[in-house]
Amino acid sequence: MSHADTQTTQDADRPMKPAIWAGLRRKCPNCAKGSLFTGYLKVVDTCDNCGQDLHHHRADDGPAYLTILVVGHLMAPLIHIVFTQFRPEAWVMALGFTTGCVLLALYLLPRMKGLVVAIQWAKRMHGFGKSA
Ligand SMILES: [Zn+2]
Repeated sequence: MSHADTQTTQDADRPMKPAIWAGLRRKCPNCAKGSLFTGYLKVVDTCDNCGQDLHHHRADDGPAYLTILVVGHLMAPLIHIVFTQFRPEAWVMALGFTTGCVLLALYLLPRMKGLVVAIQWAKRMHGFGKSA
């Protein structure tokens, strides 16, 4: 294999859609079987199933940003609808939506992190390109 062939193979994007689905299910973007996380948000160094190196992801605060974006866009119209349609007591609104926002954010955060890591893996960003 020539140097040019190696270059194109290493630069080619990996399949994005299956990687994203795996990431959203908190699975390894390469094999979609191994677990992406150890604990709630800590990404495993290497996949237990396929050996894919995952330690060089750079999700940073991207997952938190996406989580806030989704939770905000779901909850803001819902607050308006619930208030105008049902007029619950103020404490019911406050308690209900606080609990709802926290639970939805906790549910989404690791899934958004899986999504970001999967996109970085598929696009060969941050060292994901070097691993075979
Ligand atoms: Zn894997």
